[in-house]
Amino acid sequence: MKKYLFCCLLFSFNANAQSYSVMADVESIQWLKEAGAPLLKTAGITDNINYRLIRSDDINAFVTPDKSINFFSGLIDKADTQDEVIAVIAHEIGHIKAQHHFKTSQRAEKFTLPTIVSGIAGVAAAAVGAPQAGMALIIGGQAATATQALQHSRIQEREADQIAYSLLTKNGKSLKGLIDFFGIIKQNSLLYSRVPPAYLLSHPLTAERIDAARNYQENLKKGNKVTNKKIDDSTFILMKARLFALTHKPMETLRKFIPLDKSSKAIYARSIAYALQGKGKKSAAMLNELIKRKPNNPYFYDMLGQVYVDIGMLNEGVNAFEKSLKIKPELYLTRLQLAEAYLALTKLNKAFDAYSIVRQKLPKWPSVWHGLGIVYGKEGYKGESHLALAEEALLKHDIKSAEFHIKAATEYKQEMSEPAKKWLNEVKVAMEDK
Ligand SMILES: [Zn+2]
Repeated sequence: MKKYLFCCLLFSFNANAQSYSVMADVESIQWLKEAGAPLLKTAGITDNINYRLIRSDDINAFVTPDKSINFFSGLIDKADTQDEVIAVIAHEIGHIKAQHHFKTSQRAEKFTLPTIVSGIAGVAAAAVGAPQAGMALIIGGQAATATQALQHSRIQEREADQIAYSLLTKNGKSLKGLIDFFGIIKQNSLLYSRVPPAYLLSHPLTAERIDAARNYQENLKKGNKVTNKKIDDSTFILMKARLFALTHKPMETLRKFIPLDKSSKAIYARSIAYALQGKGKKSAAMLNELIKRKPNNPYFYDMLGQVYVDIGMLNEGVNAFEKSLKIKPELYLTRLQLAEAYLALTKLNKAFDAYSIVRQKLPKWPSVWHGLGIVYGKEGYKGESHLALAEEALLKHDIKSAEFHIKAATEYKQEMSEPAKKWLNEVKVAMEDK
């Protein structure tokens, strides 16, 4: 697999014989963020809520105690309309607003994502054989505790739904998206009758929940309060096409988006499939065609940049990333790739500036610290270089490397600037907490 296009795979882990990857796809994450923003505002939540995308065919979404809303790519893939995804976001925000996770388990903060997902996958596996009873035995220890912390009671589900109703209606939406999403869940449970969809394991779906949503919707209709503003769903459609192509084999993408289909979404998906097949030039030509159609779409430029970098056309890649960021400067994942391209071109000053901006916004991304560590090293700042690499190791829970880099950084303490000495102390404190 080629490196750059799939930098959208942030890290992978295995849970119960299944492989999961956290994806760093700029378009889908930004879409979730923008869709969630008005709901968070209505809910009065001012904390920074992080959206995380996990590559998996399962339908699932859940909040982790670090206040991240986690989406499985399968949920977006199986949603027919954007309102269904928005309804799920509203429901998850409902859990955050009601502080369900923080009430349930303070200790859950220590759980890493792999532990949580292996817990969820474990429940699914256990449910096939011995529902409930076998769960703790099969997945064991921490994963079981993490899963219990994520599972909601019926009362909590009702509460999160009630908050979602209010958030959606206050934002001019009906409950159709939510009701339709319940329908998808139900349909999938029938399809896979032996294994309930993962979503059900963390969010029990009862007939009561469906009825409650329907009743609420009926009352809205009677009160003439259903507005469901018609909003443009073209961004959703393009995002979904890109996500499909990034999470499926190129042949599957080419079967779904056949060459006869000249719509933008089909060309977009195919351009990614070709890039995955190593046909970068063909892919770039298609993306340039799309850019002619929609010159203000920052994601076409982002993908074009990735394709160029992947085929070694670094200057063209930088150019495309810069154009994307001119349209939407807040695309930090694109800026991270720009930083990497600058680094590859040994434009160290520009790389440093780009990494520094990204570090402010994505301080928990290991690759940001990795890049900074390399830039510092090349510029001769050995101590800072080791500190940045220690940060990377800490984020990856790689205690051995972290110890190594902290020790190495300490040896350069004499030549460090004052801020760097302070940084060294902070890293040592973070290390002790591990
Ligand atoms: Zn729920």
